[in-house]
Amino acid sequence: MAIERPKADNLFALLPSVDRVLTWPATAALLAEHGRQATTTAVRDLISSLRDEIRDAGVDACALTESALVQRLASLLAERGATRLRPVHNLTGTVLHTNLGRATLPEEAITAMVEAARNPCALEYDLETGGRGDRDDIVEGLLRELTGAEAATVVNNNAAAVFLLLNTLASRKEVLVSRGELVEIGGAFRVPDIMSRAGAKLREVGTTNRTHPRDFEEAIGPRTALLMKVHTSNYAIQGFTKAVPEAGLIALAHRHALPFVVDLGSGTLVDLARYGLPREPTPQESLALGADLVTFSGDKLLGGPQAGILVGRADLIRRIKKNPLKRALRVGKLTLATLEAVLHLYRDPDRLAERLTALRLLTRPEPEIRAQALRLLPALQQALAAWPVQVTAEPALSQIGSGSLPVDRLPSHALVITPTAKRGGGLNRLEAALRGLPTPIIGRIADGALRLDLRCLPVGAEPDFVRQLAPLTTDH
Ligand SMILES: *Cc1c(COP(=O)(O)O)cnc(C)c1O
Repeated sequence: MAIERPKADNLFALLPSVDRVLTWPATAALLAEHGRQATTTAVRDLISSLRDEIRDAGVDACALTESALVQRLASLLAERGATRLRPVHNLTGTVLHTNLGRATLPEEAITAMVEAARNPCALEYDLETGGRGDRDDIVEGLLRELTGAEAATVVNNNAAAVFLLLNTLASRKEVLVSRGELVEIGGAFRVPDIMSRAGAKLREVGTTNRTHPRDFEEAIGPRTALLMKVHTSNYAIQGFTKAVPEAGLIALAHRHALPFVVDLGSGTLVDLARYGLPREPTPQESLALGADLVTFSGDKLLGGPQAGILVGRADLIRRIKKNPLKRALRVGKLTLATLEAVLHLYRDPDRLAERLTALRLLTRPEPEIRAQALRLLPALQQALAAWPVQVTAEPALSQIGSGSLPVDRLPSHALVITPTAKRGGGLNRLEAALRGLPTPIIGRIADGALRLDLRCLPVGAEPDFVRQLAPLTTDH
């Protein structure tokens, strides 16, 4: 062979033992910062991967000096000690972004959550009698007041609410659903799968775009447990469609003494039209029409914590709460504290748009966002001066997200980064650089440009946003 390979045996001999590394003076600071256990594990892992690298001829002697090893050890420990659940700037233009944690919480809810975290609290304790309480009591009164329901219960998320409902009321029986409503949400929630795991048999009624009342009438049989409506919120079947009006279906279900249940998905407790937003159906509307149960999410339009809320008939809620799976799907005190605080805000709809963070973001006036874009434009232009890009401020359209109609857009403003080179290959590198900042900036690449929709950037976060752009001036 013409190429001289490094002598692997000699390199192996250069590897120190774990104990040696732990006695090096330079390791002392790392031991003090990260503790003996984490440091020892990291040293062991580092030496083991160096052994692999020597075997694969991917390392030379100067990578095995004391200072080189300590440096690698320090970055390994820093990486392992870093927080994974990092705060980010959501500039994707989707306000309720599932991958970025959906609704950001109002201050009232954050305070309540911290209080519940810090102190013992009356989670399942009746302060009047000193006896055992029910954790659902914390929010049931509020949910009844706000939705007009007889009873309510809360579980981990809306998928769990639907699952628990079906498992309780439709196990080994049939559930009738209109074929056009068999939604897939975020790739993981598919009604047919949830239904079969819950032990219920799905019976699809009608065709994808047309379902008639008589289709339901004909499908009802001795094994039918209930009729279910799934709010098809995250897509719109347009054109020649015919969904059976809810009132007719409810009357039909009740004529056969069957419950009619609604999976609303994104649930809000106010008419969003009063804030200038697209109308979304509310649980109270379905209940007023006669629906027996409605389920919805806590962290979508409601603007609260991840939770699944079931409201409706007291006898059905009672049966659902008796299901042993309720124990497996119940929420903890942090969720209940947060949800309670959010529900309190709904008691005053006049001030809701100022106080409920999610709604405040959704209703931010376009001129305010445009002014923000023009304020931030020079800083971003300066930071990216050496990159082969052009930065402009342009009108944009935000989305509500999390299952609201994607065709309903909110006028907004964005900083738009367009490559000046023909191929535009630098865009992905720039996107990665923005993701690598201390508070990662998450934008959206569309039509050959990286778009930073500023709707969800709080004005108070601007100084941090600008300050952290500094490394980009050299880092291209
Ligand atoms: C979002 C959604 C779900 C799932 O709710 P999670 O709170 O994410 O579990 C179920 N059904 C519908 C119609 C939805 O929109």
